[in-house]
Amino acid sequence: MQIFDAHLHIQPWSMVRPDVLRLIDDPSHADSRAVLESPEATLRFLDANDIERACCINYVSPDVMGFTRDVNDWIASFTREHRDRLLPVGSVNPLHERQPADETKRVLDLGIRMIKIHPPHQLFSPNAYRDSLPQLADVYRECEERGVPVMFHTGTSVFPGARNMYADPMPVDDVAVDFPKLRIILAHAGRLLYGETAFFLARRHPNVSIDVSGIPPKSLLRYFPRLADISAKVLWGTDWPAPGVVSPRKNVEEFRALGLPVDVQCRVWWENAAAMFG
Ligand SMILES: [Zn+2]
Repeated sequence: MQIFDAHLHIQPWSMVRPDVLRLIDDPSHADSRAVLESPEATLRFLDANDIERACCINYVSPDVMGFTRDVNDWIASFTREHRDRLLPVGSVNPLHERQPADETKRVLDLGIRMIKIHPPHQLFSPNAYRDSLPQLADVYRECEERGVPVMFHTGTSVFPGARNMYADPMPVDDVAVDFPKLRIILAHAGRLLYGETAFFLARRHPNVSIDVSGIPPKSLLRYFPRLADISAKVLWGTDWPAPGVVSPRKNVEEFRALGLPVDVQCRVWWENAAAMFG
């Protein structure tokens, strides 16, 4: 069975603030830097983990993480020769742009296939366009018009400087209502604390899906006993090399061991993401 990992962090770690890097530099991830040495090294890593295609997650978070808007150019160029397997994911942070609409156009023109919004690390709420940050709507509108999905990080973060008042996925309800054609992914499905909210949003809105990255697959059915009911809206993802994720392959094995019906596995591992990204 083919694997489409919709949530793999292929990011320029050289940009990351030292205090954050200490958390990421887990000894079990000795290979995480080697994987980034070249696109070919990344492809070898995918092969070793039986991953056919992967979304290479990047986002702009200058104050919490150290990532500037240059991550967009970096990932666009890193994936250029291998877009069939490596899908570049970028970001626009309207708190750090004079013209978020122009920056969104520029980023999408680079060939970025999905926009990542990380509220606890970007320090605004997904629905901030309704009051303090009207320019955020420009980002969503451009993505909606071009058919580019937007992935929201949901759930808490323990990185220094992260603001967990933005961890709750419920404000995405506004986005799903106001941008009904925008394809929305709730990364980490609310990650435990907000799992029920994420599940509710996926059931309520035709344009909302979840990814299961960042949740130990072994525990997935404990937190989402009705996962199979929404299997048409569940994307596979591992969040590698996040702390605790040993290898993408191990996550696949753990998910397989849950014994879900084969059609459910196929949808989650491949079909839903393939339909979304073409
Ligand atoms: Zn992630």
